Amino acid sequence: MTRDHNRITGMSSSVTPSLAGPPSVPSLAVPAHDTRTVPSMNATNPSTGSVDAAPDPVHPPAASGTPIGSGAPGPADATAPPPGETAAAGRAAAAGRAGSAPPEGAPAPAAEGTLLDSYDALLLDLDGVVYLGRRAVPGAPEALTKAAERGVRLAYVTNNASRTPGAIAEHLTALGVPATPGDVVTSAQAAARLVAEGVPPGSPVLVVGGMGLRQALRAHGLRPVSTAAEEPAAVVQGIAPDLSYALLSEGVLAVRRGAWFVAANGDTTMPTARGELPGNGSMSRVIATAAGVEPVVAGKPEPPLHRESILRTGARNPLIVGDRLDTDIAGANRAGADSLLVLTGVATPLDALTAIPAHRPTHIAADLGGLHRPPARIAHGPEGWICGGWTASWEDGRLRLDRDAAATDPLDGLRAACAATWAAVGDGRAEDDQVKNALATLGL
Ligand SMILES: [Mg+2]
Repeated sequence: MTRDHNRITGMSSSVTPSLAGPPSVPSLAVPAHDTRTVPSMNATNPSTGSVDAAPDPVHPPAASGTPIGSGAPGPADATAPPPGETAAAGRAAAAGRAGSAPPEGAPAPAAEGTLLDSYDALLLDLDGVVYLGRRAVPGAPEALTKAAERGVRLAYVTNNASRTPGAIAEHLTALGVPATPGDVVTSAQAAARLVAEGVPPGSPVLVVGGMGLRQALRAHGLRPVSTAAEEPAAVVQGIAPDLSYALLSEGVLAVRRGAWFVAANGDTTMPTARGELPGNGSMSRVIATAAGVEPVVAGKPEPPLHRESILRTGARNPLIVGDRLDTDIAGANRAGADSLLVLTGVATPLDALTAIPAHRPTHIAADLGGLHRPPARIAHGPEGWICGGWTASWEDGRLRLDRDAAATDPLDGLRAACAATWAAVGDGRAEDDQVKNALATLGL
């Protein structure tokens, strides 16, 4: 192994050469969707006279619920919105599809399903979605048990490489979450597969990380070692609570001698009950800085982790659920799958509003309970983007939010706000100052 290995295949954290083939995501089956009209959501686009029914190339609009345009009156209203507005509007509309309970007094949603009805598998991030540190996110065990009982496949997809799938499944089971080791897919497994495809079978690999990495490497026929003197072909780094200066030094020495440098994930932080702690992306900067070599990253948002999860579940139409825009949601968008952002972890409502296009989710919900509620309805009317009694518009370069008596759920306000903001900024991103005052009125 020479230094060239790092130059050729390891210099970009966004490239995974040996797994860079065409996505193996199964074609995303589009389920039948509810075509009932919702009069209050059928407002037309004042600039086109049409309902905004533009297809979204990333998120097929029929994937769930009755989002924008589902009540399109007829051919006369099928005028295409102007270029530039459509894609952003479609993505923006999609953001509002996550469920919230209808306001009191609204017609009973007897024929309306839940957000989950449109998907056959959930690819779930763990930290900040299912648990925070050792504790379950409130309501998560119940929501996932209910999903499993309905026959939806669950896969737990984590960038955390410090623990084995068995240990993670045990933790989940103790929290009341249905899980077996085979349901857990870790970035350690993705990293081990990446390394196994890039070095000769049986090669020594220096593990700067925990037992999860060691086990995953052995499963791929590689030999975990602990010192640079053992001439490892690769150095693999994953988060480990007891990571030492001595082991980091071995990693630096090995990489400087030409070993291939692979990081299980690039998360700069990880959420815990105490707050944000340093993640593997921060810890791997030590070797990267001291050795002058950037690692190849195996975990989210790189495709291998989600791809393996989809294959393992046999999913035809998976929903990727996460709390981070730059890993979970970005990874879903790269895989061409729908995504649900839950606000129980890292990402805040402000983060969602100001997200760049690659980081914008299909759905937003407060927590996993949103899986079992009807998909939110959102539409573009004369006054702006409407969801659950909230109307969001963009005036003089700033977000504006108005509400009527039907506005009971501030999450609907956020969905409308995202729709308006994303449509306004298109392929750019909003500045905090443009949205902060309006967002404050939601009290989220
Ligand atoms: Mg997370």
